Order: sequence, then structure tokens, then C-alpha cells
Amino acid sequence: MKIMVSACLAGENCKYNGGNNRNEKVLQLTEGNEVITVCPEQMGGLPTPRVPSEIRDGVVTAEDGRVVDEEFRAGAAKCLEIALREQPDLIVLQSRSPSCGVKQRYDGTFTGTLRDGSGVTAELLMENGFRCVDVEDLIKIHNGIMIRKLFPEEAYLLRDFLYEAIFIPEGVEPPARYIVERPELRIYYDDFGTGPADHCLVAEAAGRVVGAAWTRIMNDYGHVDDETPSFAISLIPEYRGRGIGTGLMKEMLTLLKDCGFKQASLAVQKANYAVRMYKDVGFKIKDENDEEFIMVCEL
Ligand code: SF4
Repeated sequence: MKIMVSACLAGENCKYNGGNNRNEKVLQLTEGNEVITVCPEQMGGLPTPRVPSEIRDGVVTAEDGRVVDEEFRAGAAKCLEIALREQPDLIVLQSRSPSCGVKQRYDGTFTGTLRDGSGVTAELLMENGFRCVDVEDLIKIHNGIMIRKLFPEEAYLLRDFLYEAIFIPEGVEPPARYIVERPELRIYYDDFGTGPADHCLVAEAAGRVVGAAWTRIMNDYGHVDDETPSFAISLIPEYRGRGIGTGLMKEMLTLLKDCGFKQASLAVQKANYAVRMYKDVGFKIKDENDEEFIMVCEL
């Protein structure tokens, strides 16, 4: 993969204060991928160190009141030129920067207040069709498969992945897709993102989401108590059996632990081949009924 990244994430001392935002996940990208580093603010002619800037009423302004919009936009244009020439598969940018921020930026008051919106470089790249990922959403890239957080606007995908998660024994006709509209299945995705245990990681290959693992505290088949998130996971058929599901599970278990959860649970049909994968990542059978195991993983 060819990946363009904010230079400060790769450890270059190009930040306004002369430091960097060295990021281990980004450094790992250099293994097996071609990485292009860019610092739009330096490329726009600004010195390092420099006075910090924010976007105020659409104009990039330094904290001392100087308008630096021209320099910021010149740097953004140079980044776009590089992206058009190099055609990176992915662009990973530093969070909240007035140049590189993808989802959020400071509001121009220099009070630490954030608002939704992008920095000028991220905005220009995205306007020109380049996929930009906020470094905080990136979890891992391995063998061309990126594991990242679900973007809020992708929540609709959970319906499809829930359908893929339905275990269909051999020789049994798959149910109609609208089965996922049943109330006992809607709890897996309705208003996803509003609960404290609502987390979703997706696997992306060549710009397409091919798998998802998500959790929430819900009264589903795998519910054990009101403090334990339940898991759902699935991959589209052609991406199964490649270790992607295991990768998603492991990263999600780490994320839940970092969030302070003590355990996670799931329900799985006894005949489902995934039982072995769940055991491999640390789940143990806690209970069972005629058809299913209820499994729990201590974090
Ligand atoms: S402009 Fe981007 S690459 Fe340069 S220091 Fe700021 S966040 Fe980092």
C-alpha cells in the first residue's frame, strides 16, 4: 500500500512548537508499505517553531492576530499536488490540526474549544476524492487490511454485517435479508453510537468494508449482566478464513479493556466454526442451552 501521512506523526519535528506527534501505529505503517510524509504548514512556507494558528470564520489566523491563510492554503495545494501525482491508497492525518484535522478542529478562539470540521489540507484532499483517516481512528494495517473505527456515517453497515453474522447450517436455506428488521435483532444496531459500550471496529480492504466487530450492552442472546458488553462479528464470505476476524476480535478486546470494561460476552451456535476462534482469543464457555454456548472473555 502507498500511504501518505502527516509528517509529525512519523516523528518529524515539524509541529508549531518544534516537537512532533510521533505515533507508534504510524511508524508500524512503514513496515511493508510505502509511506510519503507531508507537513503542509512547512510546505506553505511557515517556519518551525511558529505561532499556533486556528481557523476563525473560515480564515486561518495565528494566535498573535496575523492572517496566515495564504500560507496554509499554499501548503494544502502542494499536498494535493503530491497526492494527485502519487495516488496514495490511504491518507492518515493528525487529529484536530487546522491543516491536517479530519473530523474536528479548534474553533478559532484559542480556548481549546473543538468543533466539527476539517483542517484546510484535509478538506482539500477530501474534496478531491482522497480518503483521509484521522490517526485516532486508525487501529492497524496488516497485509493490506486496515482495521479502523467505524465512521458514524457508516452505522447503516451494521444491518448488513448483522445479516452476515447469522449462522446458517449447511443445507439450510438462508433467511430473507429483512430478518434483521425483527425487534430482537434491531437491538444490535438501532441508535448505535449512543451507548457507553457502543464500539465498532471495521476491516477495510481496497476501500471496501469487509468485516465488522461491534459491542454494546444489550439484552441479546449473549447478555450476561448490565456491565458486560456483548459482541457481534461478521465478515463478508470471501474474506473469511484469513485471520481478519481474529484480528478484529483481539483489537476490540484491547479497546474494551482500555475503556475499563472487565469482561465481554457473546452467544454462538454450537455448530458454528467460529467457536474455536472465540476460544483462541480468550473466550470461555460460561453457559449453554440446546443450541448455543454463552461465552465470556475476562479482560
Ligand atoms: S501541519 Fe500537519 S504534519 Fe505539519 S505539524 Fe501540523 S499536523 Fe503535523
